[in-house]
Amino acid sequence: MSAERGAGAYLGTKVLLDREEGGPAGYYALLSDALRDELIGLGLITAAQVRREVERLEAPGIHLGARIVARAWMDPEYKALLLENGSEAAERLGIKVGEAQLVVVENTPRVHNLITCTLCSCYPRSILGQPPAWYRNKVYRARSVSEPRKVLEEFGTHLPADIVIHVRDSNADMRWMVLPRRPDGTSDWSEERLQGLVTRDSLIGIAEALQP
Ligand code: FE
Repeated sequence: MSAERGAGAYLGTKVLLDREEGGPAGYYALLSDALRDELIGLGLITAAQVRREVERLEAPGIHLGARIVARAWMDPEYKALLLENGSEAAERLGIKVGEAQLVVVENTPRVHNLITCTLCSCYPRSILGQPPAWYRNKVYRARSVSEPRKVLEEFGTHLPADIVIHVRDSNADMRWMVLPRRPDGTSDWSEERLQGLVTRDSLIGIAEALQP
């Protein structure tokens, strides 16, 4: 295996297609590697361009989700619209929802929402970028449904026993996002400052918003 082939294998099968560590490369992984190596060999693209493109695809756009949440925390009318029609609410802030319908669910003192995609890796990519590796992992996809409370605990999110957990299963038509609870002690904060408390994981429901 040449050095270039080695770099290609890394980008194609481990990063782009998220192949299990050490597992055999599947059909599409091999195809992707072969195609990229051929294009690099022909001088049409470079390995660095491939890496940059992967970086662009995976770069989280968390600031977009944070803008939506902070606005909803500040503005009850906007929050009502957000919970009724997520796509329309996002577009009102100039954020284009490129894929399926965006559905936003609110975490409250009684209900905690956790987002998953049991079938594959559906995720509001146009707002949050690419999903984290664990989100695409079969183990998360199965256990988020069968034992969500335990999964949350393993991620360091300990919920009181009386909070009900709703697991939201994304699909091709519907991308769920969480409106996390506004942390206490932030009543006099500006919208911009509030955005800093919204993390990617709080938008998936695997964590809560940061405490100030
Ligand atoms: Fe999916």
